[in-house]
Amino acid sequence: AKQDGRGVFRFFEPALDAAARKRRQLELDLREALQTGQFRLNFQPIFDLKSDRISGFEALLRWQHPERGNMPPAEFIPVAEETGMIIAIGEWVMHEACRQAVKWPDHVRVAVNVSPLQFRASGFANVIFQALSRSGLVHSRLEIEITESVFLEGESAVVSLLHQLRAMGVRIALDDFGTGYSSLSYLRSFPFDKIKIDKSFVDRVANDTSSAAIVRAIVDLATALHMETTAEGVEDDDQLARLRGQGCSSIQGYLFSRPIEGDMVAAMIASPMSA
Ligand code: C2E
Ligand code: CA
Ligand code: CA
Ligand code: CA
Repeated sequence: AKQDGRGVFRFFEPALDAAARKRRQLELDLREALQTGQFRLNFQPIFDLKSDRISGFEALLRWQHPERGNMPPAEFIPVAEETGMIIAIGEWVMHEACRQAVKWPDHVRVAVNVSPLQFRASGFANVIFQALSRSGLVHSRLEIEITESVFLEGESAVVSLLHQLRAMGVRIALDDFGTGYSSLSYLRSFPFDKIKIDKSFVDRVANDTSSAAIVRAIVDLATALHMETTAEGVEDDDQLARLRGQGCSSIQGYLFSRPIEGDMVAAMIASPMSA
């Protein structure tokens, strides 16, 4: 243990070192994963309640770690963000998502998560442009999902980048809506195409009057602003019935389908379905 400035011995340092080592190892593993092709994408359908068909799929990153097996994004994305690796990984995701989506029918979009660091990195618009031109995907079939946290550093730069992307034809969705701080002011700053209502509200929409009221308010607000809504994490029929009644445009969740492998997407689009 070392002595800190106030003469107090800190015996927890070895544990910190172990955590730091683990992090450092994960960073190296992420770099290797990208180089050796350990990442793949799964796709979760977004079901449109007005047209009764799949309107798109959200691309979700999957990592088969050579020793630790399947690692959930919640475990490695934060490390990828802290180390800056998310910029290179996100670029791979963007290219791969567009490459796969170009094989789908024209009315089916692909939604790609973009982390705040990746969004603010210089050259992000160019990454999107490259992914679209290399794949040949019609621009309006790409939707990027960003969270409110991108606005925390310099709102005006963010808004001008969003307008630049919109001018390219790319759609913009606001993800995890309701979980951040000043959501409403961001809705005034930029006309998003879609708001994704966070699972935490959807979870309780059928049996908690406050959650139901919040979901209704979000849907009404979005409708007034000409934005679509997707309810995330819909798991049962009661939630679906409630969301339908409240005028939500689309749903995504285990009730309809879990995320699936890329080669299963075409079959899912082709099969008759309902929700
Ligand atoms: P998210 O963007 O909010 O994605 C939705 C998450 O909810 C996904 O978890 C999805 O599998 C899960 N989910 C969908 N429906 C249900 C449901 O009915 N019940 C439950 N319990 N969960 C449901 P996943 O794939 O583990 O991803 C977690 C988070 O990791 C994502 O949250 C996103 O923030 C991040 N992520 C995933 N892929 C990428 C990526 O390519 N780039 C970046 N930057 N972040 C990603
Ligand atoms: Ca998302
Ligand atoms: Ca989300
Ligand atoms: Ca979420």
